[in-house]
Amino acid sequence: MTDGGLKSLTIVGGGTAGWMSAAMLSRALGPTVAITVVESDEIGTVGVGEATIPAIKLLNSFLGLDENDFLAATNGTIKLGIEFVDWHTVGQSYLHAFGPVGRPLGMASFHHYWMRRRLAGRDESLWDYSLNALAARAGKFDRLQTAGGGYLEGLVHAYHFDAALYAQYLRRYSEAQGVRRVEGRIVGVDQHPQTGFVTGLTLQDGRTVGGEFFIDCSGFRGLLIEETLHTGYDDWRGWLPMDSAIAVPCASATPLTPFTRSTARDAGWQWRIPLQHRTGNGHVFCSDYISAAEATEVLMRNLDGAPLAEPRQLKFTTGKRKRFWNKNVVAMGLASGFMEPLESTSIHLVQSALGRLIALFPNGDFNAVEIDEYNRQTALEYEYIRDFLILHYKATSREDTPFWRACKAMDIPDTLKARMALFAQSGRLFSQDEDLFKEASWIQVLIGQGVVPAATHPLTRVVTDAQLDEYMANIRQIMSRAIEGLPSHADFIARHCATGSRPAA
Ligand code: FAD
Repeated sequence: MTDGGLKSLTIVGGGTAGWMSAAMLSRALGPTVAITVVESDEIGTVGVGEATIPAIKLLNSFLGLDENDFLAATNGTIKLGIEFVDWHTVGQSYLHAFGPVGRPLGMASFHHYWMRRRLAGRDESLWDYSLNALAARAGKFDRLQTAGGGYLEGLVHAYHFDAALYAQYLRRYSEAQGVRRVEGRIVGVDQHPQTGFVTGLTLQDGRTVGGEFFIDCSGFRGLLIEETLHTGYDDWRGWLPMDSAIAVPCASATPLTPFTRSTARDAGWQWRIPLQHRTGNGHVFCSDYISAAEATEVLMRNLDGAPLAEPRQLKFTTGKRKRFWNKNVVAMGLASGFMEPLESTSIHLVQSALGRLIALFPNGDFNAVEIDEYNRQTALEYEYIRDFLILHYKATSREDTPFWRACKAMDIPDTLKARMALFAQSGRLFSQDEDLFKEASWIQVLIGQGVVPAATHPLTRVVTDAQLDEYMANIRQIMSRAIEGLPSHADFIARHCATGSRPAA
């Protein structure tokens, strides 16, 4: 390596992860490092990542993207959260809505006050205090920074988009930033004979592509991180046994809902992601309990429009690489690991890994201390998300199928066990730095899945019942006024970002 810093970086793969890496790194590094993306049209991409979480707006603003252009270019829509149908019991549903629930009062979180009233016998929904949940249920959206003249936070949104169009959009962006694209199938990887560092790639037509630093975005196979460096994989199927998905788009249905829907099925769950031009659907399942043919039949029976393509099967192993950064290779996207799309975390994991890589970007040499720190932080982030996903299965009351009985009975990681026990006891919940999902997310899924605390925080006693009644009524009133004034989601899209309404970016 040179002392003057890295001069070149090679990205293997041009799926969502490859082009996100190219866009973000070219923006961060400017002309100091020459970036090349090698991809093969013949191999293609997974192309089903269509739902995101609000942090993606940070990526867009870092790249300087205009939100309306971005949505128009990707057939995008607004996502205010995820509706979970039949997860707790058949016939019950709840939302994991983005944004806060209520407003803290004094030093205690809002949900403690909600629990105080509930323990006193009041039957009111936690989601009556979530602006996002109210807007989602009403099918409405607008860009609302605050409500009640700044008293409450406004709406917090993410996007649904067409994954293939998203990758193309980021490709155009990256190429305009000077990123070089090489089309071709990689058939050989050269390594330094002593260090094992990757030194170059050989393409099917004999061309070679060099590089000092490689980002492996080659998908599940992990062309560099696994097939070349044999890094190893932590298999988490014992906790998250899903191993397959069938995906199919269908014609749009009205109204255009501003949320993702996840409906529990007998041996898995089905996603529904509304875009401007179609609805994305998929059935994620565990092949120990249902065959691919049966899973396809369940999916096709539960579409809300005519199918627009043949159903496509994807197979995966839930888990993560033992090291995400090994020698001079960093794995991103599916090459780094995979957890089912229940909480739309994969694209975000690419974004946060890129942020971490930029923070720890090598200064000409590859330093073990920095690489270990990168791997430590990334592993923790994966583990926290893993626990959050397991919660959805473990905290079910369903016992109507062998799959759900097994989920309810399964042993869970000690970290999750401790969180669930603390919450069940007194509604307390703590999140760590690498924890992607914070208190508002955990409490919605815990309470939605039926984990209701036995006691509430003693600090809630600082207000009288009458004061609390007034406080809660005031929040409800501000929220209902804010919702009243919003346009429908479909009207918002038509007015600001309908596909074809804006010049191509
Ligand atoms: P891929 O899309 O597989 O791209 C791999 C790239 O590597 C391709 O360009 C390919 O051509 C190239 N390549 C491979 N081998 C070679 C070679 N030998 N030579 C040259 N090029 C090569 N994420 C979300 O955030 N939200 C969701 O809602 C969501 N839903 C999902 C549903 C399912 C069923 C699955 C499986 C995933 C989902 N994801 C979701 C994850 C998301 O799809 C991926 O994180 C994202 O698409 C990134 O994929 P990738 O770029 O890592 O891999």
